[in-house]
Formats: sequence, C-alpha cells, structure tokens
Amino acid sequence: MHIDDLAAFSGWGAEAGRSLRAVGWLSSTHPFSTGRISAEVYAKLKLLLVDPWQPFVSCGVHPCELCQFDGPLGGANLFVPDGTKILVCPELITHSIAAHHYRPPDEFLTAVINCPETRTMEYKRLLLASGGRSLVGECRG
Ligand SMILES: [Zn+2]
Repeated sequence: MHIDDLAAFSGWGAEAGRSLRAVGWLSSTHPFSTGRISAEVYAKLKLLLVDPWQPFVSCGVHPCELCQFDGPLGGANLFVPDGTKILVCPELITHSIAAHHYRPPDEFLTAVINCPETRTMEYKRLLLASGGRSLVGECRG
C-alpha cells in the first residue's frame, strides 16, 4: 500500500482522517526520499515500536514492498502525535530506514523525538490534544 508522505490518512473514518497524516507507506513503484537520519531518532522509533498503541487490532500482515526477496512482515502501526496532528507509520518504517535508506519528513523526525512512551498518560493526552479524540474513544475496554 502506497500513500504519499504527509497525505491525509483516511483509513479510519472521516473524523480521524482530519488529524491523521501518513508517513512511511512506501512501495517499489513510487519514488521516496532517502538520506541519513540521526541514530537518536532511529533508536527512539524502535523504542516506540516495542509496544505501539493502536485504536484497532490491525488486520493481517504485509511484507516489505521494497525488498526483492524475503522482505520482513509487518502489521502494526505507530501513531505519533505532535500537538496539532497525528502521524501514522507502519512498523516496517524502521526496516525501510535501515535497509532502504528511507528518510521520513523532518516534522516526523521531530515528533518522534518529542513523543512520550506509548503506554503513558502523557501519550494519551498528547493524542487527544492532536485531534485523536475519535481514535481514543474507540479504544475503550
Ligand atoms: Zn525491505
């Protein structure tokens, strides 16, 4: 599945779509930006992906579309709120960075550094402040 970086992410309904922006939804048929990112951002991204909060259980896993052979599988998504919007990336983003030299947009890198750990109240509060009320509301129980 390909979505342009920072395009509206409409997979979870219109209300959520207003605050969600896609990052890292790459495919081999669309060009994407490449370059170095800091080891600090990469390490933080891996930390956030240890136990990513998700509003819904994702359906199915998908292999990396950039690998020619034996691409790793990923199904989870990471929601990174930045105070005004929520950036949504697939868990394979760390693989895309490490193996395919993908460079996410600067505002995503900044949001990752500033993002609280995913199972904290701070994280939930930042999600709500970033327009995630409909997402968090779906998550009861
Ligand atoms: Zn790959």
